[in-house]
Amino acid sequence: MDVLTVMNIEQKYQAENGEITAIKDISFAAEKGEFVSIVGPSGCGKSTLLSIISGVLKPTNGEVYVSGERVDGVSPHIGYMLQKDNLLDWRTIYKNVLLGLEIRNIKTQENRKRAEDLLKTYGLYEFRDKYPSQLSGGMRQRVALIRTLAISPDILLLDEAFSALDYQTRLNVTDDVFRILKQEQVTTVMVTHDIPESISMSDKTIILSDRPAVIKEILKIDFEMDNRTPLTCRNSPKFSKYFDHIWKELSRNE
Ligand code: ADP
Ligand code: MG
Repeated sequence: MDVLTVMNIEQKYQAENGEITAIKDISFAAEKGEFVSIVGPSGCGKSTLLSIISGVLKPTNGEVYVSGERVDGVSPHIGYMLQKDNLLDWRTIYKNVLLGLEIRNIKTQENRKRAEDLLKTYGLYEFRDKYPSQLSGGMRQRVALIRTLAISPDILLLDEAFSALDYQTRLNVTDDVFRILKQEQVTTVMVTHDIPESISMSDKTIILSDRPAVIKEILKIDFEMDNRTPLTCRNSPKFSKYFDHIWKELSRNE
């Protein structure tokens, strides 16, 4: 069953010189555990689309369903990660990871255990009493991810979540994040302007046009590999084929 269904989404904004349509006719779906990425020109409406899926923004038209329920306002079943890791400097790693549970008022014994298990599984338990400033950028990002996963979201939204990291860290973090998300079977929608990142992580890439953004293509990414990782994908001969395809599609103006 599809975990996410996006149906005929349209968003108009009031601008000084009248109304602008940011996105229109956007429809797609994602199944359990699927990794979907969204690429498109800067300013085309990618963040707008994620805000709508998250329930933060109500669309002018259209509907979003997560696990069969219509999204109407901010949903506790949706995890959202932005470029800044938003860790609180005065809280320990452990307390940071519990924050999402506290905000949603679901800091139960069971959920606390889940948070601790995630810290253990992904190599952060020994750092639980440290503060964010004592961790590297990559580790902070992993903490932010675990904090988001601690709420057991049905779907995870990533908006340029890795773009503040330097190149080397970014490669490692995306490998890490990919492994965690596949293991936890989390359905993910990631917005990125980085084509290689999109190819190396996704099961499908949605290519958006210039504003008003419509879907140009939904490209299935299949490396026909067991246990693929972003790094092994980058080394596959198919990688440059996908890159050329997306690059051309993005540059083509109709
Ligand atoms: P992207 O994430 O693809 O760079 P955005 O979704 O942030 O694009 O923005 C899409 C378009 O909508 C841009 O032209 C932006 O200026 C406009 N926009 C975004 N948010 C608002 C808003 N709250 N009010 C008016 N215009 C907005
Ligand atoms: Mg954006």
